Amino acid sequence: MSVTFWAQYAWLPHVNGPVVERDVLISTVDGGRIAKVTPDSGPCPSGAVRLEGLLVPGQANAHSHAFHRALRGTVQVGSGTFWTWRDTMYKFACALDPDSYLALATAVYAEMALAGITAVGEFHYLHHAPGGGRYDDPNAMGEALIEAAARAGIRITLLDTCYLSSGFGTEPTKPQLRFSDGDADAWAVRADGLKPREHARIGAAVHSVRAVPADQLGTIAHWASMRRAPLHVHLSEQTAENDACLTAHGVTPTRLLADHGVLGPRTSAVHATHLTDEDIRLLADSSTTICMCPTTERDLADGIGPARRLASAGCPVSLGSDSHAVIDPFEEARALELNERLRTRTRGHWTANALLRAGSEDGHASLGWPEAGRIEVGALADFTVLALDSVRTAGPPARLGAETAVFAASAADVRHVVVGGRQVVRDGVHQLVPDVPAALRDSIAALSS
Ligand SMILES: [Zn+2]
Repeated sequence: MSVTFWAQYAWLPHVNGPVVERDVLISTVDGGRIAKVTPDSGPCPSGAVRLEGLLVPGQANAHSHAFHRALRGTVQVGSGTFWTWRDTMYKFACALDPDSYLALATAVYAEMALAGITAVGEFHYLHHAPGGGRYDDPNAMGEALIEAAARAGIRITLLDTCYLSSGFGTEPTKPQLRFSDGDADAWAVRADGLKPREHARIGAAVHSVRAVPADQLGTIAHWASMRRAPLHVHLSEQTAENDACLTAHGVTPTRLLADHGVLGPRTSAVHATHLTDEDIRLLADSSTTICMCPTTERDLADGIGPARRLASAGCPVSLGSDSHAVIDPFEEARALELNERLRTRTRGHWTANALLRAGSEDGHASLGWPEAGRIEVGALADFTVLALDSVRTAGPPARLGAETAVFAASAADVRHVVVGGRQVVRDGVHQLVPDVPAALRDSIAALSS
């Protein structure tokens, strides 16, 4: 079905860099792609869907573990470390089955839609039953996530994750038995059972150099390469991982991944917090994308990763909400610049345009959706519309829409969301999941009962 949208303002590509245009007509065609973009078209014509506010490309959440949403609040009691946080996370992981994960992930992805996210990269390692038993469908948990995205009206790249060991040369612990396929060949056989759909694509992930023995990294890289699929990996989030890798292999995690063919233009390294100069060169020379998750990295006291240096060296940058301590793509974007300001005590490391691009075009490319994340003819008709008349966004002139979106707006300012030409959020209300807070409350409460 073709639909025409009229946006009061839209952030559009331009030869000299993106600009905010007004009265923008965007017509879409069957298949949910953009057929025509006309700025300065005058008042909203009858028959067009009126979108008041600033239209930007739908945001890509390039790194998610949906079930971590159940930890919100719980892990803020007392202190602890990344590793004690992980113990709490495992308790929730043990409580999930395909039905309860479908309910939880539907609610989480609906929260994402309300925040302006139109595509999620789900870094999925919760494959098997508690204790490691196989479900009748060995991909029952992954299928639940694909179905959850459909119910919430967003796109998903299921990054099926290989997770085999608890550390270098150590067997999985009891909670980790759910994650393990035994070896990378068995992981590949199971992952082959996952098929793409209109709203879903399949990628691969190496959980980390801790969780996949070095001699099996190549199997996963080869699987992704044969399918030209995205390949993601957690990298150097904690110095303890670097220390253990140096002890086991005498090289940094980045060097280990490079030596086993894991880095490359379809690869995303998630976090990349603690890197050497050589690591930065290896990542840039291989055109590896860096996925920064600033709200999680600050929540877990990881440190501030060298995003600016990596980007200057040539790495594309994407953004993810990871543990979902908050789900707000605009908060992730501004944190990249604001973290750098605190570290350097200087301003102006990232422009608002560059940060919006990280959340849209580069994020989608990292998830294997290169035809999304831009408002142009032929691209997927995925938009997010921010209110410019809220208490947070009223005041700045519309030509500063990108600056307002990145440095002042929040998820609460998302008014409309369109995915593939279909309106998923209208006037701040999800059109497919009627009561998202109740869906979150009930699906999380079910895990504790
Ligand atoms: Zn993660």
